[in-house]
Amino acid sequence: VQPVERFQELLRIPTVHPGPGDDADWSAHERFAARLEDLYPRVHRALDREPIGRSLLYRWPGDGSTSTGPIVLMAHFDVVPAADEASWTYPPFAATITGSGEDRLIWGRGTLDDKGPLVAILEAVEGLLEEGFQPDRDVYLSFGHDEESYGTGAQQIAATLEARGIRPSLVLDEGGAIVRGVFPGVTAPIAAVGVSEKGIADVVLTVAQAGGHASTPPKLAATVRIARAVARLNARQFPARLNPVTRAMLSTVGAHAPGALGVALRNLRSTAPLVTRVLTRLTDETRAMVRSTMAITQLSGSAASNVLAERATATVNVRIAIGSSVAEAREHVRAAIGDAGIEVRVEHASEPSPISPMTGPTWQRVAAAVRAVAPEAVPTPYVMMAASDARHFTGISDAVYRFMPFELSAEERATLHAIDERLGVATWLRGIRFYREIVAPSAG
Ligand SMILES: [Zn+2]
Repeated sequence: VQPVERFQELLRIPTVHPGPGDDADWSAHERFAARLEDLYPRVHRALDREPIGRSLLYRWPGDGSTSTGPIVLMAHFDVVPAADEASWTYPPFAATITGSGEDRLIWGRGTLDDKGPLVAILEAVEGLLEEGFQPDRDVYLSFGHDEESYGTGAQQIAATLEARGIRPSLVLDEGGAIVRGVFPGVTAPIAAVGVSEKGIADVVLTVAQAGGHASTPPKLAATVRIARAVARLNARQFPARLNPVTRAMLSTVGAHAPGALGVALRNLRSTAPLVTRVLTRLTDETRAMVRSTMAITQLSGSAASNVLAERATATVNVRIAIGSSVAEAREHVRAAIGDAGIEVRVEHASEPSPISPMTGPTWQRVAAAVRAVAPEAVPTPYVMMAASDARHFTGISDAVYRFMPFELSAEERATLHAIDERLGVATWLRGIRFYREIVAPSAG
């Protein structure tokens, strides 16, 4: 059986979250965990496997020749649903392969997020075991079962390791990828390695008011007051500034950028204000790099068209820039709306993550593994905009990186959580090499 066939088989198990309740059907997740044992016999002989809830924690014992803390390779085996199955070019759980040679593609839910990385990790470890390799330090595989449903699997694994006094020297989870064309004029592929991630908070604005008939409305109805607050908020965006990670990213990219852009990026000491201003105007993506963002995602008022709202609410989904905080975000919102009669409540808050090293041996280990897969790629630190399971590990490790070792086009990246999720077969096979290099560096 070839690696790709094992990948296909695991993609065909629809590990979609079955929903809440004691009678929820977890059989797909159970089948997935069981099939891993058959497909990766060496892994399951040499590593201890421990279920943490429905998540899986593996430990590959090191030979004890170094006192450096263990490596944790993270991934999750649940996938988001493939809601609109009929619009997929190939069925989402068929793992269809098309094309030939270097152009072969594998189609299906989870190819990128996150079975591609998960199965590549297992292939790397199985291959190393076949060669008789033993790591010099412990290597843990942390496979979550509920990342896509805001579950606690990875959190429980981190808590388990913490309770055992384990301080990993390196944690690697999903995140950035190898990309081209994100910066104008930069032709070299950029390996975007997440060294931190933004914080997140829902800020809920609420106005309560005595109800009444819509034929005799007050001067300032609750809904109008919420609308005014939203308009004021939208007019007062969070301040833009370059954080240390974005600075490092821009200087790294600047070395490969042509013309005036290259000059500006290589001289951030004097051009930072200008560059910041340009980034706030360039694209939605570059704007999100330099500030906390807010999206007003939900509005609610009255349940009937002819009844005044007794409660009007707006939910502001804030992604908090590193260097800022949940408290600062809340304060900005409160000050911007300038209306003491509106309640401002914070829900589901999580602070921005600490910054993992962007130089030094651990960063170099990741960068070297990137070069083993894509010699021409430029390893570049960046701040991940979305929230990942990796943030639960920042409490037990100083070096938490978010990266998947695949070169992805903009079109492929757009299939994440969408229809026609797919990945190049050759790209996936090369990615296995990355995880091998992390565990067993070939150079030096
Ligand atoms: Zn994911």
